[in-house]
Amino acid sequence: MKNRSVLLITGGSRGIGAATARLAASRGYDVCLSYASRPEAAEEVAAEVRAAGGRGLAVRADCGRAEDIDGLFAVLDAEFGRLDVLVNNAGYLDRAAPIEEITAERLARLFAVNVAGCFLCARQAVLRMAPRHGGRGGAIVTVSSRAASLGGTGGLIDYAATKGALDTFTIGLAKELAGDGIRVNAVRPGLVDTDIHENSGVPGRMAQLVPSVPLGRAGTAEEVAEAILWLASDAASYCTGMLLDVAGGR
Ligand code: NAP
Repeated sequence: MKNRSVLLITGGSRGIGAATARLAASRGYDVCLSYASRPEAAEEVAAEVRAAGGRGLAVRADCGRAEDIDGLFAVLDAEFGRLDVLVNNAGYLDRAAPIEEITAERLARLFAVNVAGCFLCARQAVLRMAPRHGGRGGAIVTVSSRAASLGGTGGLIDYAATKGALDTFTIGLAKELAGDGIRVNAVRPGLVDTDIHENSGVPGRMAQLVPSVPLGRAGTAEEVAEAILWLASDAASYCTGMLLDVAGGR
């Protein structure tokens, strides 16, 4: 049990993060998952990880708060004592709005959670993974979005811009860490059937967008989880700085 790899995933209580935590457990990882506001959902996923034979722990940490991220990694050190894979998954979108309604406060919070949170988690991961800090290398996978290239359908340009920042972050960090044995990649999901669309305030948003998907349906969280775990694994040993679209052709 001592040699099991440890995967830390932010936003592991629901949607893509929860599916990734479950699949990671089935592939033999111990899983530390963070959440923001739904302890019951997070505890349920952690219990499923344990039922699959791994160590599973849910930790409350708002990715928009640097002190919460520091606390998350302190718990990781105390409870798991190693880190092999970081999945930067936590993210949200705000109500769909035209540019006239996008305020400084809205932008500050969105960029704090979706962008700065990923930078700060990666910073903490590198302090544990890089051989120059005593680590053994590892993998970082960030959950970006096809919205980065599409621009954010129907009033979500601020959300899309946060994902554009994550694409650039992935390309640059991959180069920075290539000599440290740390691979850095991103998945870019398209339309995936999770709760996130409810935040947009647009009733039936998912159903409206399905006709624009060449494969003719929304993706599942499990389909995205497969891509995340492939990028995290040794099977992707020659991939770094890669943006992998999981978007049904959209
Ligand atoms: P979701 O079902 O709404 O789940 C979001 C997860 O992130 C939850 O675990 C939530 O925790 C957590 N979270 C939200 N705000 C947080 C914060 N401030 N700090 C820490 N955790 C926070 O969303 P999802 O669709 O699975 O999205 C996961 C990632 O995929 C996001 O980065 C999203 O942008 C990206 N993505 C999704 C789609 C899609 O169509 N679904 C497409 C492209 C990209 P609580 O349960 O505690 O609230």
